[in-house]
Amino acid sequence: MPATVSLHPLLDKGALQGAPGFTGGVLVCACIDRPVRVKVEGDVAHNHACGCTKCWKPAGATFSIVAVAAHDKITVLENGDKLEVVDKTALIQRQACKGCGVHMYGPVEREHPFQGLDFIHPERFESDGWSPPGFAAFVSSIIESGTDPADMPAIRARLTELGLTPSDCLNNALMDYIATWTAKKSGVLKS
Ligand SMILES: [Zn+2]
Ligand SMILES: [Zn+2]
Repeated sequence: MPATVSLHPLLDKGALQGAPGFTGGVLVCACIDRPVRVKVEGDVAHNHACGCTKCWKPAGATFSIVAVAAHDKITVLENGDKLEVVDKTALIQRQACKGCGVHMYGPVEREHPFQGLDFIHPERFESDGWSPPGFAAFVSSIIESGTDPADMPAIRARLTELGLTPSDCLNNALMDYIATWTAKKSGVLKS
């Protein structure tokens, strides 16, 4: 992989470590003036590197780091007037800061297996210790944001080396979760 290709500033330092017993914290946007502050109670779940074109990522990053938390564990503490939904037609209603562009939380409101979950970017926590990413999703999509297809084998190898098993959709556990929800809804699977 070309040395110039960055996965994400945090991942480029090596595999991330969490701290046992992380109980949540406050997400802060990148504004100096009147930053948006959002409280998250409890640790995040399903944290992963995401290659899609929709997730917020810091400058220079190829992947976002994104996780979920229950919607009722999320509270806007300060400057919520700066938030605006990026794309109202999207499944994830990403609430972005109009000042700096950071996505602060993204609820899934419509009927869907992920309904009731909010997508957040744990790197915006003021404090460390959140559960680190455990897999990589939508890896092939980084080509849509300009990655040379020839770099893909090396990028997948690097993700694997970091313990982030690469997938071109979600990981097996989440794909099974979605299919189970769909099968129960259609009646194919009895619960
Ligand atoms: Zn901001
Ligand atoms: Zn994404």
